This record gives sequence, C-alpha cells and structure tokens, in this order.
Amino acid sequence: MPNLCATRERMPFRLSLLASGMLLGCCLAGTEVPVVTPGTESTPELPGRAPSDATVLFDGRDLLKWVGDGNRPAPWKVANGYMEVVPDTSSLWTKEQFGDCQLHVEWAAPAQVQGDGQGRGNSGVILMGRYEVQVLDCYENATYADGGAAAIYGQEPPLVNCCRKPGAWQEYDIVFRRPHFGEGGKLTKPAFLTVFHNGVVVHHDSVLFGPMSFETRQHYQAHPDKQPLLLQNHGNPVRYRNLWIRPLSEEDGRDSGAALERCQTELASWPWKVNDTQRPRPPVVAPGAEGSPPADASVLFEGGNLAQWAAGAAAKVSDGSLVVKGELRTKDAFGDCQVHVEWTGSAKRAGLRFLDRYEVQLDDPLAAIRRLCPPLALAARGSRQQQTCDLVFSRARSAEEGRPGRHAHLTVLVNGVLVQDAVLPGVPTNQPARPVLLRDDAGSVRFRNVWARELAR
Ligand code: MG
Repeated sequence: MPNLCATRERMPFRLSLLASGMLLGCCLAGTEVPVVTPGTESTPELPGRAPSDATVLFDGRDLLKWVGDGNRPAPWKVANGYMEVVPDTSSLWTKEQFGDCQLHVEWAAPAQVQGDGQGRGNSGVILMGRYEVQVLDCYENATYADGGAAAIYGQEPPLVNCCRKPGAWQEYDIVFRRPHFGEGGKLTKPAFLTVFHNGVVVHHDSVLFGPMSFETRQHYQAHPDKQPLLLQNHGNPVRYRNLWIRPLSEEDGRDSGAALERCQTELASWPWKVNDTQRPRPPVVAPGAEGSPPADASVLFEGGNLAQWAAGAAAKVSDGSLVVKGELRTKDAFGDCQVHVEWTGSAKRAGLRFLDRYEVQLDDPLAAIRRLCPPLALAARGSRQQQTCDLVFSRARSAEEGRPGRHAHLTVLVNGVLVQDAVLPGVPTNQPARPVLLRDDAGSVRFRNVWARELAR
C-alpha cells in the first residue's frame, strides 16, 4: 500500500538550505522544501499575522476577497478588525477557489446570548461550499452531538467540546483533503479533515462520508477540484477575523483504494443517524488561555519539577526551562495523542519520539520524521525566539472483520504552519501505547510548556 513517504520517494527532493548532511530515507536530489516565515499568534485583543505563504482572506479591513450569494457584493458588516454576519442577507463565498488546504479561522459567537441549541451563534466554515466544520456557541448550550462547535456537521462530533464563552475569540486550524472523482463522476477518494479548536485537536484524519447534510445523509456528488470557501449565514451575528489559507500539495500519501474502502466500511457500520439526539455529546474541556494547557492535558513540564518523567537521563530545570542531555521518557504511556512543546535554542540532535519508533526532529530539518519523511515546509523561527510544535499521532490499526487496517498518521504544526500530514509506513497492525520520548543529545535546547493529551480511539 503506498504511503506518503513512499510517494515522496518518487519525488525529487533536496534540502539544500540545510547544514545537516544527514540523509533522509526519501531524500533525493531535486526539489527544495519551501521555507515559510511563520505568522504570529493571536491574543484575545489582537489578531495574529498569517504565515508568509498564506493567502490572506480577511485581514480586518475589507471584504474584497468575498462575494455574497449569486455573486453579489459581500453584504456583511466590517468594523474594528472583524466581519460580522448580517442576518437576512446572504452567506459569503471566496472569489478564489481552493482544494486541499490548511485553513485558519477565528470566530466569536455573539456576546449577548440569544436562542438555544442550533439557534445560538450558528454559522459554519464550509469547505468547497459543501463540507462543513460547524460554528456554534456551544458554551453551556446543548445540541445534538454532530451539530456542535467544530463538528463535521451531520457526521462526526468533535472529540471534545472546547468552546470559549460567547463573545470570546476562538480559533480553528483545519487541514482539509478534498475528495477525488473519476469517470462518470464516481468517487475515487473521499475527503479527510483534521481540526484543532482553540489549540486542541478535535478531529484527526477523519474520513468524510459526503457533503454536509441535515437530517438525512447526502452522498458525494462530483464537483470541480477547486471550489470557493463558504462562510454560512445562519441568521446569527457571528464574527470572524484573521482568516488565511495555505493551498497544499495533493500528494497526501493516502492510497485512494484504501481510503475509499475505509469510507465505505465506516459508513456501512456507522451506528448513528444524522443529527442523532441519542448520540453521546463530547466531553467539555476548557481550552488553555494564552499558552496554558487545556484542562484535560497531562502537564509534562510547566517550569517546575520533572515528576512526570522517568528517571534516567541527565535533565535539569534551569530558569523555568527544561534542559535534557540525552533521552527523557514520560512515566505514562501514550497511544493516540496530541503533544505540545515549546522551546528556544538551536538543536544539534533533538526530537520527540512516539512508540519508540517515529521521531519528529527538532534539529535540521525541523519537523522531518527521522529517516522517513521530509517536512512539507520549513517554518522555523530564529534560535533565540520561542518556537511551538503541536503533534498529533494516531497509531496503526489491524484489519478486523469487515474493516480495513490503517497506517499510523502523524500531523505536525510548527509555529502554526502545517509541516507534516504523513501516512507512516509499516504493516498496519495494532500498536500498544508507549511513553513519549524527548531527546536532546547536545543539551542545547531549553524546553517549556510541554503537555500531552491521550485521544479517544
Ligand atoms: Mg452551521
């Protein structure tokens, strides 16, 4: 079965800008990994800046990149750096069209709470005008599970509900892989979504059964490879700011046949109706505020002690930072998980390793999966600046009766930029949870704010 790394093996590849002479397994002479200057993070008061290669869809000033229904002028209000849905007008469509992409969206539900259920702060981020990541005020507002904030509407609830209060700015970071259609409009490869809500992963590599649908399932219908992005007008004055998008290469490493089989078998055994009110709602988790971990995280290092790490390596706490010389393992084992780490300094040979097997490099090239996959982009900051890495790892699964096996999948954002979305090679067999390993051979990196979350499988 092909995988991303195998796919990239066929691609010419060169890391000419990098000092490291190390050979990656799939490194051949040819194309360079693009260098991207990362953006900045937003604060509650101020929107951040987009990465250098992003298309900025809304920077707070005007709606020049947008139109309303029927190609009419965009009818939403713009004020104080945000745009706001104007009820009884229309939805907004981008003039430009997109396929595979990384999309960053910030939204705020009305501070003045009105309505309940689906009638409170409802809007939506609808990729290709068909595939909706739901926007809804879900702060102390119950609704059916697949219609909550960050749900893949009508299909998949988020893993957790990490809505902020009405009026507060919230963030979605979305990785979208479009569906592919063949002769006669037949689906040849379904769409996939990974979504972070306020920095917390709520979907990882989720397969989509079809377009957004209400009450009854709609099946895929062939459409062009690129389509406009849609922001839904659901009659509530939801606000948006700091919208940007990075088109992605379509070489995503997923084997079409396996992806289609997964879509069909999951759908065939799907136990829920669309908008099923009997379905359990996702647990509520308070997201972190300004760099602090979400409420359900295992805090591995926050400036104090090393209680969460097994003894062994030379590690010390210095000025609130963690300095490791060698390898440090968590006491707890992690299976499918999200890991967040921040650091400064220039790494000689450092990384984070999952299952004692897959190591994401923090040295050159930053975010390569050692000996397996080059990064999609180089999104480093200077060595004196704080850098952030968010990693989401889903283990491989064995084939079960009627269900295909799945390869392990690793998604990595560095400083907010998608740098890995990799199908990992190997036989897809069930993998037991293992400690996460933090490695720094030279002890030249200062780590801080390290946390991990086990994900529901
Ligand atoms: Mg909606």
